[in-house]
Amino acid sequence: MPFGFFRRVKKQVTGVVKQAIIRHHRSSGVVLFSDTTLRDGEQMPGATLEPEDKLRIALALEAAGVHSLDAGFPASSPQEIHAIQQMVGKVRGPVLTALCRTLPGDIDAAVEALQGNPDHKRGVSLFVGTSPLHREFKLQKTRDEIRKLVADSVAYAAERFEIVAFSPEDASRTERDYLTELYQTAIDAGATTIGFPDTVGLLTPEKARDFIRHIQDSVPNLNRALLAVHFHNDLGLAVANTLACIDEGVNVVQCTVNGIGERAGNACFEEVATALHLHADQYGRSAKIDTTKLVGLSHLVAELTGVRMAPNKPISGRTIFATEAGIHQDGLLKNIDTYLPFRPELVGAKGVEFVLGRHSGRRAVAHRLEELGLPASDEQVLRVLEAIKQVPKGVLIDEPLLRKMAGA
Ligand code: MN
Repeated sequence: MPFGFFRRVKKQVTGVVKQAIIRHHRSSGVVLFSDTTLRDGEQMPGATLEPEDKLRIALALEAAGVHSLDAGFPASSPQEIHAIQQMVGKVRGPVLTALCRTLPGDIDAAVEALQGNPDHKRGVSLFVGTSPLHREFKLQKTRDEIRKLVADSVAYAAERFEIVAFSPEDASRTERDYLTELYQTAIDAGATTIGFPDTVGLLTPEKARDFIRHIQDSVPNLNRALLAVHFHNDLGLAVANTLACIDEGVNVVQCTVNGIGERAGNACFEEVATALHLHADQYGRSAKIDTTKLVGLSHLVAELTGVRMAPNKPISGRTIFATEAGIHQDGLLKNIDTYLPFRPELVGAKGVEFVLGRHSGRRAVAHRLEELGLPASDEQVLRVLEAIKQVPKGVLIDEPLLRKMAGA
């Protein structure tokens, strides 16, 4: 039998399997996490990562259970290709995807970068600017020219990859009818995921929902692809927007660890994952994320990128499970849930820390003295409490100082 026959059969079988996988993901009720810490996150000024750092972060993301990793932008440099190649064969769980413009050369670079990874674990994410601003000033192309570019490049990619995502860059400022046209074109050409990026981060949760509903109502072949979202945090709404779209039924959410990324950053992975975990019943969806890995992952990314986080950052900030206030300390000692939204162990944090300071009360002081094996009579506690109030601002009340105060 002629070789062409087998090739056609193989293509048909691949197509059937692909559609079965998409149907499964669309109906499973699981929200898939795509991580772009290593691409959009690394684009943040000063956050440059060495290939070995990228691999360490990729392995930590794999341990946390992300579904896919935006591993980099191969066409940007040979070093970038090299960094992606380091992950092939080592990062086995998540799908590795590479970012490409709608150019054959970019897709060829992705083939090179991801060579050796199994077909169902490698993919490309194609993007092209589609808003009037991008068309007129950046690309100098008409709507029709860009639509043709999308059709041709997605088809070219689909010949080489089973997993092909297409995102209209600056989608949140693109005409709605044109978005529909582009998504339909991309899916017809073989896209398995279509993305909705709020590239400049200006949407509110209400408007984000509205866009998703529009896409779901107007793209006629959407049942053949997954729908993904990508939010930026310019208004501090990236996590809220992502959750609103989960509620509207999107299949994939793209995030970064610690929310690092262009300008004000991206939707923060550990915040979206924890909110979804705690409110799975509300959303009627779940995630296959091991939340106990989140704090470790967050600290690893902060350390390797050098991008420090605020002490009060949700989920992983240094002081979020520490309290100095007397009323809170008293409540926490009676029942730890009185002043916590969730137990620290859920996200892999150590535990509640009682910091002694000017706002502390008797119970916390007594508790700490007992912990240190020091006498904790009412009289002794009052004496230590008095001494604490005299400590100058900024001085940490650590064990040696407390022992001194207790006269031990
Ligand atoms: Mn982005």
